[in-house]
Amino acid sequence: MIAVCEFCHKHGEGEKWYLQAQNYSEDLLSDLSRRRYIQDFFREPHKKEANIARLDDLNRLPAFVRSAVKPVIVNRQKKSHYGQVLPLEDIEEIFGFVNSIVRLPCVCRHVTVGSEQRYCYGISMEPGEETELGRLIESIGADYLTGPHTGGLESVPADKALEQFREMEKRGLIHTVWTFVTPFIGGICNCDLDCLAMRALSKSYRSMFRAEYVGEVDADLCNGCRACIKSCQFGAIRYSLAGEKVTIDPLKCYGCGICRIQCTKNAIFLRNRAEMPAAANLW
Ligand code: SF4
Ligand code: SF4
Repeated sequence: MIAVCEFCHKHGEGEKWYLQAQNYSEDLLSDLSRRRYIQDFFREPHKKEANIARLDDLNRLPAFVRSAVKPVIVNRQKKSHYGQVLPLEDIEEIFGFVNSIVRLPCVCRHVTVGSEQRYCYGISMEPGEETELGRLIESIGADYLTGPHTGGLESVPADKALEQFREMEKRGLIHTVWTFVTPFIGGICNCDLDCLAMRALSKSYRSMFRAEYVGEVDADLCNGCRACIKSCQFGAIRYSLAGEKVTIDPLKCYGCGICRIQCTKNAIFLRNRAEMPAAANLW
C-alpha cells in the first residue's frame, strides 16, 4: 500500500483527498444532517472550548483508561470535523479548481482570543460571490460572523487569498484543510495555538493528520543562521553546534513547509512523506 494518509485511501483513491473536486461538491453540501452540523459548528463555539478543556481531565485518568478513550474520541472526530496540514503549493492547486473563496472570522479565535481574526477561508465549487456555503453560514446569524461589528464574509480572488496565506506564513501560521462531516471539505484555516484543534493536539489528542510531506534541509545551502527555528510550531528544527547547520527531525516535522519562507538561502524543501522511511507511516 502506498504511504498516504487514511483519508487519501478512503476519500481520494490513494491520491491526496483534498485535491479531489468531489470532496467539495454541492451534492455533499445539500445533505441535511451535514448542513445542521455546519450550523451548530458556528453557533456553539464555546461548547468546543469546553470540550478541549475536558481533555485535561481525561489526561489525568490512568493510562489504561486514556488509551481506551483516546481512539474513540479521535475516530468520532475523523467522521465529523478533521483536518490535515498542507503546504501552500497544494492550496494553490485547490484554488485552481474551486470556484469561490470566502474569508471569514475564525471561530476558534472568537473564543480563545475574544476578537475577530480573519484567518479562515470557506471554499466552494459553486461559482460567484453568493454561494450556498456562504448563505448557510450567514443564515446562522451568529454576531461574530454577521453582526454589525464584524467584517462578515468577504469574497477573495485566488491570487489575493494566496498572498494573504503567504503573509500568515511569515507570522508562523500553518495551513490546514478541514472536513465538515467527512469527506465534505468546507474550509482552509491558518493555525497556531490559538486554534482549538492545535490545543487538542498539544494535549496529545489527534485533531488533524500531518502533511503528505516532510521538511528537509540541504546542508550545502544552509549557513546556520537559525532564522527558521522559531517558525516551527512543532520544535522539529535543531541546530548542531558541531556542524553549524540545522537539521529537521522527520519524526517531529508536520510537513507544513512554513519554515521555508524564513530561509533566504532556499535551503529547506519538502519531500513526499512516502519517500522518508522514518516518517512514511507517521500521521
Ligand atoms: S534559515 Fe535556512 S540557512 Fe538559516 S539555518 Fe535555517 S535552513 Fe539554514
Ligand atoms: S520543520 Fe516541518 S513542521 Fe516545522 S515548520 Fe518546517 S515543515 Fe513545518
